[in-house]
Amino acid sequence: MRRSGRMREKINERKNSEPMAYDKNNIFAKILRGEVPSFKVYEDDKTLAFMDVMPQAPGHTLVIPKFEAENILDLDPDYASALIRATQKVAAAVKKAFSAPGLMLAQLNGEAAGQTVFHIHMHIIPRSSGVDLKLHAREMEDFEVLKKHAEMIKAAL
Ligand code: 5GP
Repeated sequence: MRRSGRMREKINERKNSEPMAYDKNNIFAKILRGEVPSFKVYEDDKTLAFMDVMPQAPGHTLVIPKFEAENILDLDPDYASALIRATQKVAAAVKKAFSAPGLMLAQLNGEAAGQTVFHIHMHIIPRSSGVDLKLHAREMEDFEVLKKHAEMIKAAL
């Protein structure tokens, strides 16, 4: 099929452009709008925290800002600070609920860094020496287990 000059221009614009626009249909945007369910553990006016459905360790929790940003570079500084505050609060509860000797925080920016969901989020993952993490975003956890873990974290908040 022959493409018009205008169409070629558009395609080249996309190829050469830096980050793509925020996709309002990413799964975390749907969770924020309540279109997709999640096991919530904490919410305030600027953030939401919920269980990762493919945890790398029991208690793996995600914290997201209520702001449309793919990554740290797009995030409004007020929401960045709210994200860190909420992460600190939820991390303390995760540590207590799972008696975790260590905690790993992770935040991936861009496909090249391993990011798979393009709404910025912090990972909170309990760690113990000598216990390897499961692979990233691979194995779905049983929903009853996630529900129980969310309740444990909420009780520790
Ligand atoms: P990223 O790779 O972008 O840093 O992390 C995305 C995380 O979201 C992964 O750990 C993955 O397991 C998790 N995830 C993917 N889809 C869903 C979903 O539908 N619900 C929840 N709660 N977590 C998800």
